[in-house]
Amino acid sequence: PVQLMWFRDDLRTADNPALTSALSAGPVIAVFILDEDSPGIRPLGGAAKWWLHQGLKSLQASLVELGIPLVLSKGSADEKIPALAKQTKAGAVHWNRRYGQPEREVDTQAKTALRDLGLEAHSYPGTLLHEPWELMTKNETGYKVFTPFYNALRDSTIRPPLPAPAAQDHVTESAIPSGLELEELELLPATMDWTAGLAERWEPGEVPARQRLEEVLESIAEDYPVHHDRPDLDGTSALSPALRWGHLGAHEMWDALGRLAAENPKAAEGATAMRRQLAWRDFCWHLYYHHPHLPERNLRAEFDHFDWAWPEDDPQTAGHVAAWQRGKTGFRLVDAGMQQLWQTGWMHNRVRMVAASLLVKNLQVHWKVGERWFWDTLVDADIACNTANWQWVAGSGADAAPYFRVFNPELQAKKFDPQGSYASRFAPVAAEPIVDLKQSRREALDAYEQMKLRG
Ligand code: FAD
Repeated sequence: PVQLMWFRDDLRTADNPALTSALSAGPVIAVFILDEDSPGIRPLGGAAKWWLHQGLKSLQASLVELGIPLVLSKGSADEKIPALAKQTKAGAVHWNRRYGQPEREVDTQAKTALRDLGLEAHSYPGTLLHEPWELMTKNETGYKVFTPFYNALRDSTIRPPLPAPAAQDHVTESAIPSGLELEELELLPATMDWTAGLAERWEPGEVPARQRLEEVLESIAEDYPVHHDRPDLDGTSALSPALRWGHLGAHEMWDALGRLAAENPKAAEGATAMRRQLAWRDFCWHLYYHHPHLPERNLRAEFDHFDWAWPEDDPQTAGHVAAWQRGKTGFRLVDAGMQQLWQTGWMHNRVRMVAASLLVKNLQVHWKVGERWFWDTLVDADIACNTANWQWVAGSGADAAPYFRVFNPELQAKKFDPQGSYASRFAPVAAEPIVDLKQSRREALDAYEQMKLRG
């Protein structure tokens, strides 16, 4: 019988455990459901929707080559999946597991509904190097600190990537349920197309992701230890959106970097450093799995007593937030980052940290305000990585930077954009600074002391 492969955030054919298993069981029909209806699932932001549209187009092309049709649908997945399985008389439905609480609930309901119909559901680990419950502390709790988590991950066995599957015989046309056209998912902006900058910068999909990985292995990894903090250079992998959407499997990247480190002593340090960075992605999901309220609540409860500013509170904060969003804070590195984000849907990690610090510390705006903006504008927007990193910068996270570590955006610019070429590329016109760095830093530290008194 026909096998259904349910794609979600694993938009690739190679190194895809669920797809491999489906193909070994019979002719495969692939399904993608845009689910904005199930409770608790946060709707995608604008930039992520653009990426998804292009990513699905590209997945469809890869699947055609394998003789696999892709059916697109929209609505509550826990209802759509059993309905499609019934309609196609599928033998089983296959998927790679998700780790957010709302998504897990949808998947459990879909599994129950399938079982009620007498159909099988098979789920696999495909998205993270380890499932969030696999690495645990000696006390059988989740890790809260990165370094011991990383040491455990580094010393664990990580499975090698799976090979790309072979083509199957074509599925008979009449067996394929009718679905929506890609345009009917309405992922692209309906009015005022702001996506030109994204299209210029990115080519979403499995093939371009693998090409970029090759480039990273050949020319980026070796200099990563010295270049990774330099937004003015092409010094990092820029694979975060490909990992977010699963065009590239984390196992494939982990494995390729490991091989590079073993084969090329000159690149070993950089490859290992990049692997460590990739482990942060697993760590963020580990934290989110063990603390499902991570997007809503401070992991350190004392931060509930911090007197955060919100844009709806007063016109001054509203003005600060608007200036930050538009890259008009007067701090060139931050402004360039915010412009890079707006134009290309991505920002260098060093600049993300500095821009976030200016918002939550110097301007004392709640981290959720920044997190929401990133969610809407990043092509790699990922609920675990975004909320864990925002809480890290705010000081409210599990393994957070100490609160008194306030980045000075001017010193950061001198150090990491020494010729100012990043600043002049993305923020050619300097604006008037909206805060005094010294004074606002002192005020932030005072507010922190107040919080401790209140707590
Ligand atoms: P590389 O340096 O090449 O690293 C390789 C991979 O490791 C990345 O592609 C990414 O998957 C992972 N990685 C690296 N750093 C981190 C990190 N700090 N946390 C988690 N994973 C990491 N990353 C996202 O993928 N999605 C987000 O929504 C996101 N929001 C962020 C918000 C803030 C405030 C900050 C400070 C960081 C955020 N990051 C997020 C993490 C990081 O900035 C990006 O992953 C990184 O900039 C991607 O660039 P790269 O692919 O060139 O990374």
